[in-house]
Amino acid sequence: THFGFQTVPEEAKESLVKNVFSSVASSYDVMNDAMSLGVHRLWKDDYVSSLRPGRKGPLRCIDLAGGTGDIALRILDYARENYADRETSVDVVDINAEMLKEGYKRFKKTMYHNTPQVRFIESNAQALPEEQFPSNTYDLYTIAFGIRNCTSIPDVLKEAYRVLKPGGTFACLEFSKVNNPLLNMLYDQWSFSVIPIMGTVLAGDRDSYQYLVESIRKFPSQPEFAQMIADAGFATGGLHEGKGGAWRDLWGGIASVHTGVKV
Ligand code: SAM
Repeated sequence: THFGFQTVPEEAKESLVKNVFSSVASSYDVMNDAMSLGVHRLWKDDYVSSLRPGRKGPLRCIDLAGGTGDIALRILDYARENYADRETSVDVVDINAEMLKEGYKRFKKTMYHNTPQVRFIESNAQALPEEQFPSNTYDLYTIAFGIRNCTSIPDVLKEAYRVLKPGGTFACLEFSKVNNPLLNMLYDQWSFSVIPIMGTVLAGDRDSYQYLVESIRKFPSQPEFAQMIADAGFATGGLHEGKGGAWRDLWGGIASVHTGVKV
């Protein structure tokens, strides 16, 4: 595969992932829109509104692999617009300083800039330092399109469990497995032919986008990932109102939302 990801040691993969996001940081938002035809916005809106941040009072949230702040902004807007909540806060955490810099620039134009509602912190989802991220701190842990880039999913889940308060919610939005064969065929065409070309034309960086597509293919299926969340100690199921289940598919499984509650 590109970058020989199967053979490089884990630490090397981590720095390769870092490089991928450094090289795409400035074009990340534009590329996201182009590659998904804007659909990632709908998924993120759906994801955040399904969590209804602020409904039961202000929340202390942590958004891992927060990148340019897409999820944090939605959480804060949702709480403010629906519950006049200006106390909910989000710690945006990412391993890549360039991505955080783009997020910071973007928040500068919002009312949350220079308020206790948002902080940007460079850190690794797999090893959050205890002094900076004490155990039992957060009500809501989000991670969107980030966990598949981490070298150890169990380590991420372990840390998520640790930093959440008992009763706190883990919620992950990630690309997933498409079950319908026809949709899957179209999606494959899109991913392997169109996206790397867009990466070249729009960002001058084919390899990084090829990597992103391949990382999606290697990510566990919905039931496998749900099992990993349960193995980390979370109670899964029941959060998706009326539907039960540990996850909810979006667009036939192109993406899915997995949730769990710390017990
Ligand atoms: N959550 C944002 C969104 O939905 O637009 C950004 C998603 S972006 C595809 C993936 C992000 O994961 C990048 O910003 C990358 O730097 C970050 N990342 C990769 N490995 C990480 C790790 N081990 N810990 C924290 N962040 C990581």
